[in-house]
Amino acid sequence: MTYRILDAASLRDWLAQQPELSQRLGGAAADWSIREVSDGNLNTVFLVDGVAGALCCKQALPHVRVAPDWPMPLERALYESRYMRAVAPAVAGLMPELFAYDTGLFLIVMECLTEHEVLRSALIAGRAPSGFSAVIGTYVARTVQATGWINQPFETGARLLEQFSGNTALTRITVDLILTDPYRVCDRNPEPEAGLLDDVKALQTDEILHRAVGRLQDRFLTVRQALLHGDLHTGSIMLHGTDVRVIDGEFATMGPVGFDCGLYLGNLALHLCAAPHKAAELRAEMVAFWQSFSEELRSALQNGGGDMWALSGPAGRQDLVASFLKDILRDMAGFCGLEMIRRTVGFAQVADYGLCGTAQERLLARQKALQIGRTLIVEGGSQRSFDGVLSLMGL
Ligand code: ADP
Ligand code: MG
Repeated sequence: MTYRILDAASLRDWLAQQPELSQRLGGAAADWSIREVSDGNLNTVFLVDGVAGALCCKQALPHVRVAPDWPMPLERALYESRYMRAVAPAVAGLMPELFAYDTGLFLIVMECLTEHEVLRSALIAGRAPSGFSAVIGTYVARTVQATGWINQPFETGARLLEQFSGNTALTRITVDLILTDPYRVCDRNPEPEAGLLDDVKALQTDEILHRAVGRLQDRFLTVRQALLHGDLHTGSIMLHGTDVRVIDGEFATMGPVGFDCGLYLGNLALHLCAAPHKAAELRAEMVAFWQSFSEELRSALQNGGGDMWALSGPAGRQDLVASFLKDILRDMAGFCGLEMIRRTVGFAQVADYGLCGTAQERLLARQKALQIGRTLIVEGGSQRSFDGVLSLMGL
C-alpha cells in the first residue's frame, strides 16, 4: 500500500481488507466505531471498536503533528514496530501486543488499551494507584536482559545496532531537545515567563553545567549498553489498576541504560516539583522503581549467557553487576536532571505544572526543577547509592 494520511473512513476501508484484523474486530466494517485520540506530539492514533474486540492504529505523519512545518521521516513507525518486536518476548504483558505493521502506510496496529489511562494524566488527576514504578523498574531491567551484552551473545547486540542505528531523525530530536537546546539560545525554546528569564540565561552561560552536560552527551552518543525505549516519560505509560503498559517506543536506539531510568525518574521528580505535598508518595515510587530494577537486573545478570563476563564465576559476576549498576545509577542521575530542565524550559514542556494553584507557585516549582536538575547533572556522576540520588532531589 502506498503512503497516504489515513482518516477514519480510509482506515476503515483498509482494515476491512485485512482478514486477520477484521476478525479481531468482528461484525461488519460499517459498524466499527473509530475515534482519533492523538495527544502525543508526533503521530495520529485511532481507536477502533468492533463487536468482538478493539484495535489501536498509530500512523506516522510526514511532519510533527503539533508543528506541521517541521518535517519528520515516516520511518519512525518502522523503528517503533522493530522496538516492539525486539523487546516483546521479554516484556510480554507490560506492553501492548503488536498485531500488524504496514510498511507502506507506516502504520502500527496493536492491542487497544481500552480501559487504560496515560500515567501523566492519572498522576495529575491524583488517581494513579501506587505501585506502578515497580512495574516500570521490571520493564527496563527485562529490556536490558533481552538486548544487552551480558545475557546475549554479541551477535544479538550487533544485529540490534544495525537495526536501530538508522533511527537518526528521532535521535536528532533527543540530541537537540534534551541534550543541547535548553543550554543555548534557540528558536525552538518557547519564550520563558518573565520571572524565569534570569534562570534561563544562567543555563546558557553556566560553564560548569555545560561541561557536565558534555559528559552526558558523550555517554548518550557513545555508550551502547542495551536497546533503549528512548522516551520513557509518564506520557509513554498507560495503566489501569495494576495493569501497567509501556507505549510509544519510536525513539528506540542502542544507548546507556541510565537514559531510560533517568527520563522516567525525571518525570516523577517534575511531578514532585509541581505537587510538593505528594513527596512521600513519589519518593516511595522512586525507591520502588530502583529496587525492582536493580533486583531484577541483578538476578538476571547473575546467570549470564552472553560473551561479556563469560570468564567470571558467581563472586566475580557479583562484583561486575555491582559496578554495572553503579554506572547506570550515575548516568540515571544526570539524565534525570537533563529531563527536568528540558521539560521546564524546552520545546516539549509538561502539563504537571498546571497543578500549581497560582502563577507564583508555578514559577517557584519551575525554579526548583531547574535547580534540582542542575544539581543532578553536575553531581550525579559522583553518586554511589540511590539514597544519594534522592538527597540531590531534597528527598
Ligand atoms: P506519539 O508518538 O504521538 O507521542 P503515543 O504513542 O504517545 O503517540 O500515543 C498517543 C496517545 O494515543 C496516547 O497518549 C494514548 O492516549 C493513545 N494510545 C497510544 N497507544 C495506545 C494503545 N495501545 N491503546 C489505547 N490508546 C493508546
Ligand atoms: Mg507519546
